[in-house]
Amino acid sequence: MSEETPPSPYPSPITLSPITLHLVTLSSMIKSLIRILINHIPRRWIQPVVGYIMPVAGLFYAGRRVQCPVCRHAYRKFMPYGYVHSRENALCPHCLSLERHRLMWLYLQNETGFFHHPCRLLHIAPEKCFLKPFSRLLGNDYLTADLESPWAKVKMDVQHIPFGENEFDVIFCNHLLEHVTDDRQAMREMFRVLRPGGWGILLSPVTVGKKETYEDPSITTPQARLKAYGQSDHLREYGEDYVRRLAEAGFKVQAIDYAKILPVQDVLAFGLRPEMIYVVRKIQ
Ligand SMILES: [Zn+2]
Repeated sequence: MSEETPPSPYPSPITLSPITLHLVTLSSMIKSLIRILINHIPRRWIQPVVGYIMPVAGLFYAGRRVQCPVCRHAYRKFMPYGYVHSRENALCPHCLSLERHRLMWLYLQNETGFFHHPCRLLHIAPEKCFLKPFSRLLGNDYLTADLESPWAKVKMDVQHIPFGENEFDVIFCNHLLEHVTDDRQAMREMFRVLRPGGWGILLSPVTVGKKETYEDPSITTPQARLKAYGQSDHLREYGEDYVRRLAEAGFKVQAIDYAKILPVQDVLAFGLRPEMIYVVRKIQ
């Protein structure tokens, strides 16, 4: 009489093909490499060369499962990205868009007349993925500005914007205010140079569920900032009062959970994640 082996209560181990194993190893190597680069090499050194390196790395991501709405290139998945913890499926190898850039692009495309009505745009701390398309769209009315970025035409401190009142129709400034000493002054400056009736998108990382922004000027070393705020070059961790700070500068603010509004298939296809879009307006 043969004894039957009772079924195992555990799932059977997954057998990976050699090609899949290589891809997994390669993917984790790329993930570590990106994390080391962005954590240890100053951004201003990375920025001039990153546009040449990443498309080559993108060859390992060939496929058609996801598509970047900004550059329209398709991949098996997006590359991993993140300072402390790498996020899977985050960085477009071709144009370097991240989830928030793709979300913002879709918002601009679906919910605003940005791509159809000429405007004078001030883009502070410009992201590489937007440079070509915005420049093609607006020509000389597209102004990029930053203190250090090699991609910026105007070198400026956002706390003292070297433009007159009401000069711009639109302002974009993403993931910069958490690095600025006096963020309230920077917000007031952006309000000043925006024309009445103008609008903008000012994204910042805001911790969900955290009511008040945490900042402590006595925290000054990169290690202490990393511990306190989650990134060594951040000067604060914004809470949900971020909206109030913008409103105090004069803006009418709308916080939009845009990924929630989009169909699930778009969220998957464009590699998005839940992230608020902060739209500001200067009321006439
Ligand atoms: Zn792209």
